[in-house]
Amino acid sequence: MTIQTRDDYIASLRKLNLNLWMFGKRIDNPVDHPILVPSMNAVAATYELALDPRHEDLMTAASHLTGKKINRFTHVFSSTEDLIKKVRRQRMLGQKTACCFQRCVGMDAINAVYSTSFEIDEKTGSSYHANFKKFLLRVQEENLVVDGAMTDPKGDRSLAPHQQKDPDLYLRVVERRPDGIVVRGAKAHQTGIVNSHEILVMPTIAMQEKDKDYAVSFAVPTDAPGIVMILGRQSCDTRKLEGGDIDTGNSRFGGHEALVVFDNVFVPQERIFMNGETDFVGMMVERFGGHHRPSYACKVGVGDVLIGATALSADYCGVAKASHVRDKLVEMTHLNETIYSSALACSMEGWRTPSGAYQIDQMLANVCKHNVTRFTYDIARLAEDIAGGLMVTLPSEQDFRHPEIGPYIDKYFQGVQNVATEARMRVLRLIENLTLGTGAVGYRTESMHGAGSPQAQRIVIARLANFDLKKRLAKEIAGIKD
Ligand code: SF4
Ligand code: FE
Repeated sequence: MTIQTRDDYIASLRKLNLNLWMFGKRIDNPVDHPILVPSMNAVAATYELALDPRHEDLMTAASHLTGKKINRFTHVFSSTEDLIKKVRRQRMLGQKTACCFQRCVGMDAINAVYSTSFEIDEKTGSSYHANFKKFLLRVQEENLVVDGAMTDPKGDRSLAPHQQKDPDLYLRVVERRPDGIVVRGAKAHQTGIVNSHEILVMPTIAMQEKDKDYAVSFAVPTDAPGIVMILGRQSCDTRKLEGGDIDTGNSRFGGHEALVVFDNVFVPQERIFMNGETDFVGMMVERFGGHHRPSYACKVGVGDVLIGATALSADYCGVAKASHVRDKLVEMTHLNETIYSSALACSMEGWRTPSGAYQIDQMLANVCKHNVTRFTYDIARLAEDIAGGLMVTLPSEQDFRHPEIGPYIDKYFQGVQNVATEARMRVLRLIENLTLGTGAVGYRTESMHGAGSPQAQRIVIARLANFDLKKRLAKEIAGIKD
């Protein structure tokens, strides 16, 4: 059945039999768990907005496989326009949720595996692309959430996968059978896994011939036997257990990550998209990274919310007209729009791969993500500067609601006369959420390390910089003859 509405989506999650752990306990029902509900709401927004005529153009597309209308999170980018729409949609969803809405990892993985499996088949005569198209057709028809899985734990980073003392530190094939393979290992930092129906696995680094068993790509349902999820903690996560809706800062939406263990998981033949082709690992990794880096236009949307919250905090305490406050808000906007510009630019410079799927411009995509690793921090710093210390010394919502001491908080934290103290508290908690709380996982540390840490981008930028060309240009202008 096709998942269309929020209710359909929640019902589909209830049917999953996940092996999920949190705080030392197995969680039978993640769908109603207060720590996880906000993250489910964020993914549900990707269904709700697709049904909203105002957002239909950014949220849905015609499938290149069937011509039918599908959710863009399951779409293969078939033009530069598709790439551009992705960036615009990422910003819009960031504005509406102010968090990581999770579904983009799978979309970018779908696109990387689609084009790479095509090229493996072209070279080797394998049938991975046909396998993948069959998988994708089901994902599109049923409108499933797919979690892309790339990051292995990696153990000793100075050693290749096959050199690790514990061979499972990179996910690998441990058994080959006529009907499929058995895999063992883990994927770390899995964004949105609890809210996903399928997990699409890819290798994490370029590999040598000896790493053959690690060169594997496949998809399995998230409740396949042998899959174990251990939820990652987020700063201030247990505030969600306190009740109330002020102290979390963003009580409706959030994200989550988990360690996902593959404890001897069976993968049938028709769900394998790479199995030992070490030559193509680099392509798959680079194409996924290339797509996922401009997906961080999500942070531009979250940045819009943070800039808005910062401006409100200035309004509420009467400093909005101070020239340095105005200037800092302009600076935040400039930084935010610079990220957006590079995300759009790499999409406009997209190119067609042999499969027909479009790929972004690598240089500009890496510049985009590199901007994200810095500018979100600068924006967060300016937000904290304007918000002031109250953001981290504010008493709790329970104190505010208490009949005896609440009135003190109300009286002494009043700012400008026509704004309620509660409004001021809410906006400061939102800034706290995005810069230090659960939202900061997405806005700060994920901005640093998600879709590759800064050094990963510098390596690509260095490789594509073409300094020889630049030197030749300089020689020409300066009149230097060899
Ligand atoms: Fe999507 Fe952004 Fe979250 Fe990555 S960080 S999954 S791009 S919302
Ligand atoms: Fe991410």
